[in-house]
Amino acid sequence: MTRFIFITGGVVSSLGKGLASAALGALLQARGFKVRLRKLDPYINVDPGTMSPYQHGEVYVTEDGAETDLDLGHYERFTGVDARRTDNVTTGQIYSKVIAKERRGEYLGATIQVIPHITDAIKEFVLSDLDGEDFVLCEIGGTVGDIEGLPFLEAIRQLGNELGRERSMFVHLTLLPYVAAAGELKTKPTQHSVKELQSVGIQPDLLLCRADRPIPESERRKVALFCNVRTEAVVPALDVETIYQVPLTYHEQGLDSEVCRHFGIDAPGLNLTGWSDIVRRVLAPEGEVAIAIVGKYTGLHDAYKSLTEALTHGGIANNVRVNVKWLESEIFENGGAVTHLEDVHGILVPGGFGERGSEGKIHAARFARERRVPYFGICFGMQMAVIEAARNLAGISGASSTEFGPCTDELVGLMTEWEKGGIKETRSEGSDKGGTMRLGAYPARLNDNSHVRGIYGEAAISERHRHRYEVNPAYEEALAKVGMVVSGKSPDGVLPEIIEIPDHPWFIGVQFHPELKSRPFDPHPLFTDFIRAAVEQSRLV
Ligand code: GLN
Repeated sequence: MTRFIFITGGVVSSLGKGLASAALGALLQARGFKVRLRKLDPYINVDPGTMSPYQHGEVYVTEDGAETDLDLGHYERFTGVDARRTDNVTTGQIYSKVIAKERRGEYLGATIQVIPHITDAIKEFVLSDLDGEDFVLCEIGGTVGDIEGLPFLEAIRQLGNELGRERSMFVHLTLLPYVAAAGELKTKPTQHSVKELQSVGIQPDLLLCRADRPIPESERRKVALFCNVRTEAVVPALDVETIYQVPLTYHEQGLDSEVCRHFGIDAPGLNLTGWSDIVRRVLAPEGEVAIAIVGKYTGLHDAYKSLTEALTHGGIANNVRVNVKWLESEIFENGGAVTHLEDVHGILVPGGFGERGSEGKIHAARFARERRVPYFGICFGMQMAVIEAARNLAGISGASSTEFGPCTDELVGLMTEWEKGGIKETRSEGSDKGGTMRLGAYPARLNDNSHVRGIYGEAAISERHRHRYEVNPAYEEALAKVGMVVSGKSPDGVLPEIIEIPDHPWFIGVQFHPELKSRPFDPHPLFTDFIRAAVEQSRLV
């Protein structure tokens, strides 16, 4: 029997609903249950793929090639379960589906309305594509009270009725702010938020209350009384030092046992030693390294969520703390600023789009190459490293990417054709921007004796992609002559997937996004090895 837990948020945004959902998923999994996590996003975009990283943070790409909300990254990292296209839906997708159905005449002349047509489509989504899970956790994006969220709340209200209490549960995440003048944590915003939920017919079964200090028992009872829940179902969610403590602290506060109690499940005990071990390694490392991330969206760290997590995982594997030095790439464009790179032990240029800041990334790649500092170029970061080597080693002065406009030497060019599962995909300059990149898992073959072959320990790999441009294979020979080799390609031998400089301690560029597959319990080998190389570098400087 599949049970559904609906997670809403109240009072303010950014309370960490995604992490809370992921942590609850991890706890239920640790009790031996099969879990799946889903996110319902009320915004109107079809997916976050076309949104600015400043607006929405990272776009998380699933194995099956969907561009999704970054919370799906938390779900994967906390549960190890690969997310799918069917784990994230938006208002845009729901309406597109309903309108297409209307155009095909499938509603037989009915007037199409939010209730029941839109809400039915939402319910259908929640109940679709399941695999005998014990629990499906559905997080509703946004904050209760948002206009966009109403159809989603109505849909989960209906589902609650249809499934019954034994198969559904409503969890509401709120905030108890501390008001210094009163010297107290305040419960009123939580009361209001719960009233808002009740006004749309949803009575939360459990309140997860974020607070920056312990919640006195009297306040807990007050929340329970005014919000119509049992005191035990008011679960404190206190601030922690690392996100990997969240499952442990929620467990200590009784979250998973309350959930089991709600469903009347006599759940087996759970073993959280794996989580304690991760937390111990994160909080008490044996050393530290500094890694520069030279990017364009460094003002919003959420834009690089999986990346910083993957670096942390690389640190866990090497028992060191990874201190990230965020550097806006444009600072390197007027020269001089390279001093910012003098004290780091590794330089990472992550994925990115557009010309702004690209010359700065090229400068950073040059610094790493010439000064023999470990360099990790991811997607755009690989493309910029290739342009740098072409210009400064191979003397191809007009080397650039057609992403920035026409150029004389197209070292990086628009991908117009490739294969996906035996089917040819084609693109042109005029193609739609949304959902048309080379997306999701693609296999690659690694050269024998290459650096990456040693790091992966195997020749056949599969990694997730999200790009529109590729390194032009026509320049492979010219680059090899100056010491930059293509060491991984698509299995048909056409698309360059990895470049490396064999005569450098650690210089690797990958066209894919390895950070999307790194997990605390299974750090990605490239990140593990990059941090290992950074540790070595730290001994030199
Ligand atoms: N803008 C580049 C491309 O589309 C790189 C994309 C990325 O870094 N994800 O190919």
